[in-house]
Amino acid sequence: MTDRYAVLGHPIGHSKSPLIHSLFAQATGQDIGYTAIETPLDGFADTVLGFRAGGGRGLNVSLPFKLQAFEIATEPSERAHLAGAANCLKFEGDRIQADNFDGVGLVNDLQRNLGCPLAGKRVLLLGAGGATRGALLPIAGQSPALIAVANRTADKAHALGRDFAAHAQLQSGGYQDLAGKSFDVVINATSTGLTQEALPLPAGLFAPGAIAYEMVYGKGLTPFLKQAQAAGASRVADGVGMLVEQAAEAFAWWRGVRPETQPVIQRLTVPLT
Ligand code: NAP
Repeated sequence: MTDRYAVLGHPIGHSKSPLIHSLFAQATGQDIGYTAIETPLDGFADTVLGFRAGGGRGLNVSLPFKLQAFEIATEPSERAHLAGAANCLKFEGDRIQADNFDGVGLVNDLQRNLGCPLAGKRVLLLGAGGATRGALLPIAGQSPALIAVANRTADKAHALGRDFAAHAQLQSGGYQDLAGKSFDVVINATSTGLTQEALPLPAGLFAPGAIAYEMVYGKGLTPFLKQAQAAGASRVADGVGMLVEQAAEAFAWWRGVRPETQPVIQRLTVPLT
């Protein structure tokens, strides 16, 4: 019998997850069905429980439901717990397991696909929302020289510093606190790639050889990536690889088979021009 999976979000029409998981299923010979379900803003729990009651095996969870996905879980992973958010659920009997694969997807993309090991590097995350929360533990696990978080609302960056104190010593602050500092890896985890807004980045932020990584994908050269190129970053990348790598983690967790990611990344890549 075909096992059923889906992605929940609002809106969800733009989601690439059904395509990604159908390509993974074809490549690995797994018999799964995967759909996108537009979920009412006040109907997340009902949709999850209804999908499970109908025999569904697992769900990906997109915006704005990642916090609720964590809350509905009976068994959240440590990563999901620290992030306070989950992007993947697995159903086994009465158990609802939850994990957060966004951060490991980012780390796998940087290290495996882009050839950028994080050990010993100075890593800066711009933004202090859910994406940064999900990324911190996987990044800290790679032993970077330092991790800094800068956010428009500096207090949110400081709060992250406190929440993650047992796992990493974060430098936290606002954009003005970045003056005079340079980093090897600069990750834009704000939503400015969607709104096409520029960030107030100081001169000298990108160290020689630095990579600039935009989590938003499919938008070509965003204002952040243009800023990075103009400021001398050696390489720029968007978040398409992160998207596919987090999907691969979910697929492996659900199915016990790890799909190849490169062909899917190539299929979804929009040139950075
Ligand atoms: P979120 O929780 O809503 O956080 C948004 C962040 O962006 C906050 O830090 C916010 O700062 C900042 N921000 C928004 N507008 C800004 C502006 N004009 N100037 C400066 N900062 C601004 O969102 P999220 O879940 O962290 O996601 C962030 C982005 O990552 C989204 O665009 C999402 O598409 C992308 N993402 C990609 C993947 C992938 O697989 N590639 C996975 C997850 C997320 P304040 O706190 O000051 O409001």
